[in-house]
Amino acid sequence: MRQLTFDGPGEYAWREMPHLEITAPKQALVRPVAVACCDLDVAVAEGVLPMAPGHAVGHEGVAEVVAIGDDVTSVKVGDRVVVPFQINCGTCSACRRGVTGSCSSLPLMAMYGMAPIAGLDGGGFMADLVSVPYADTMLVALPDGVDPVTVASLSDNIPDGWRTVGPYQSELAALDPGERRVLVAGRRSIGLYAAAFASAMGAHVDYVDTDPQRLAAAEKLGATVHDRRKPDRSWAPYPVTVHTSAEPELLTATLRATWPDGVCTDTGLFIQPVELPLLALYTRGVRFVTGRANARTVIPGILESISAGCDLAPAVDRVVPWDDAAEVWPTMTSKTVFTRD
Ligand SMILES: [Zn+2]
Ligand SMILES: [Zn+2]
Repeated sequence: MRQLTFDGPGEYAWREMPHLEITAPKQALVRPVAVACCDLDVAVAEGVLPMAPGHAVGHEGVAEVVAIGDDVTSVKVGDRVVVPFQINCGTCSACRRGVTGSCSSLPLMAMYGMAPIAGLDGGGFMADLVSVPYADTMLVALPDGVDPVTVASLSDNIPDGWRTVGPYQSELAALDPGERRVLVAGRRSIGLYAAAFASAMGAHVDYVDTDPQRLAAAEKLGATVHDRRKPDRSWAPYPVTVHTSAEPELLTATLRATWPDGVCTDTGLFIQPVELPLLALYTRGVRFVTGRANARTVIPGILESISAGCDLAPAVDRVVPWDDAAEVWPTMTSKTVFTRD
């Protein structure tokens, strides 16, 4: 079978791999049909995030089940499913409490498409087949009528956007209507999803970015957009703020824009140590949340929001034929989805 392999920044190639087979009773084999780039894939392709070469890429997508082990009961051959980017067993203590991003049966960062940091090589979604070792635990059926292209990022970036605002929905709802405000310091796609979910919850969303394509997408997703690098210091502070870049200065500005006892969630990946304005956070009691999403746990609830009318389609910038991936993958700057029949 073929899989798309990272050979170095800007260099990707299709490689032949041994065909996969069912070897365990809880396993399924799936064939990806709509695969999105993760924000991290773009950073790796650009060389911004250094990564050892030689691994299969792709960890966001919708796939069709093509084979199942004897113990699999929740999906059948032919079903369309969302495959979470994190690999998790479903039975350990961490999985049972919903911390599916840190399954204790597997290496801490166990995931697809990023073997050098995942602690295992689970393959990538830009492949003819993908092995899902815990099919009943991991796979989520795609409801009828949901567009695979729109939700290809439901494996990873969509849950990452959701967790910045979803857990604070009741906090926002308890405020006076005029105070239900969310600030999103957006970069790449996670900020767009955060803006979409906050807007769907009825909040006023101020989206800050400098990229014209993302500003246009954020507006379609319901945000008030601001073409600027940082929030203005004169803006009234927000109960909920979201930071999605790897720029320390923007993180600090976002933290400072959070009101007393508010919450600021950061999805950025900082490789270098970063100074935080801890005294300002302490005196105002700002809750600072970082860490990785627990994708599998939140996917079903997000699908309910989507079925209820939260349209994420504007976040997708490009749809590209599968066979063009080796040429297009290194040039991606925004949410790109590769599809095949
Ligand atoms: Zn990712
Ligand atoms: Zn587990």
